[in-house]
Amino acid sequence: MSEIRLGILGGGQLGSMLCIAAKKLNIKSVILSDDENAPAQKFCDEFVFAKYNDKDKIYEFSSKVDYITFEFENIPYETLDELNKLKIVSPKPSINRLIQHRLAEKDFVNKLNLRTTRYVHIENKKDLEPLSDFLPGILKTTTMGYDGKGQYPIHNINQVSSLNIDFSKKYILEKLVKLKKEISVIITRFANNKYEIYEPIENIHEEQILKYSKIPAEISPKLYNQSQGWAVQIAEELKFIGTLCVEFFIDRNDNLYVNEIAPRVHNSGHLTINAFNISQFENHIRAVCSLKQIKLKKISNAKMINLIGNDIIPYRENTKLDKNQFFFDYLKKEIKEKRKMGHITILEND
Ligand code: ADP
Ligand code: MG
Repeated sequence: MSEIRLGILGGGQLGSMLCIAAKKLNIKSVILSDDENAPAQKFCDEFVFAKYNDKDKIYEFSSKVDYITFEFENIPYETLDELNKLKIVSPKPSINRLIQHRLAEKDFVNKLNLRTTRYVHIENKKDLEPLSDFLPGILKTTTMGYDGKGQYPIHNINQVSSLNIDFSKKYILEKLVKLKKEISVIITRFANNKYEIYEPIENIHEEQILKYSKIPAEISPKLYNQSQGWAVQIAEELKFIGTLCVEFFIDRNDNLYVNEIAPRVHNSGHLTINAFNISQFENHIRAVCSLKQIKLKKISNAKMINLIGNDIIPYRENTKLDKNQFFFDYLKKEIKEKRKMGHITILEND
């Protein structure tokens, strides 16, 4: 049987973990990234260093692979669309275009009659003035945001001038939700319209960056079912192929809100590598390469800790771990503040 070759756009840690999962399935991985230090080059079979709009390189990349996917959202739609004419891109480029824009994403969720935070489009400073009932709120760039980047918490309107907001960009203003908890649901949908869904994962963010994830999430059965139901509805509506993550807020009255959709594997799902028979990464590859679907089975409860910035140092120096602890070093060239450098998963059986 000839070997399958999978092309992945993006070379961060999610790309690395996709490459590791591909290897396990005997699939060759080719990474394309515009970062010459992209960590995933250490895990892939072949690395193409190119800008995401470099036509020649994009064609070269496409000629090396059978299927194409991506590990982050901020890829030009035109590039994905062009690639889709040559090879199968999953999930579909139009899904990426929808979700990489916060306003389009939230409008889409509301059309499905699923709750989101209240939000308005902000195109200039003046738009903010009459909006005191959206405060306290968070101003977020409509595109390119991640890990809290491009976000400004605003408590009152007088603050706006001191925040030095770059109004050459467009924003949405979101009302702040009084959070009780955050959870996420990861689902992998296959081409035959079937899916595998993971149980809800409970997440704790610090300074808008994910810090801890755990299963089981401490939530009511109603929220468990509701969050999974909404994730299925979103994946079905998008006719999604691959792994998708829905991030949710739960407020103090136990109302569920869709915060964001990630059309890809997700940081909160790192614990699926050790806690399930099939990880979110392997499931993604099975779906986008049309491989067999395997019934998901949980092996263990787990918690995951993100190692951000200098957090990684003691783990690099002393890798002695208990047998239920798994340390992943993303092998990034430089340690930077607020940069995800690695993670630990701890399996916990009761
Ligand atoms: P990113 O794209 O950076 O992940 P998010 O919109 O998910 O952006 O925001 C990151 C985190 O900031 C959330 O997980 C949550 O902890 C906090 N946050 C964002 N928006 C709100 C909101 N409207 N109300 C309360 N907390 C919020
Ligand atoms: Mg988020």
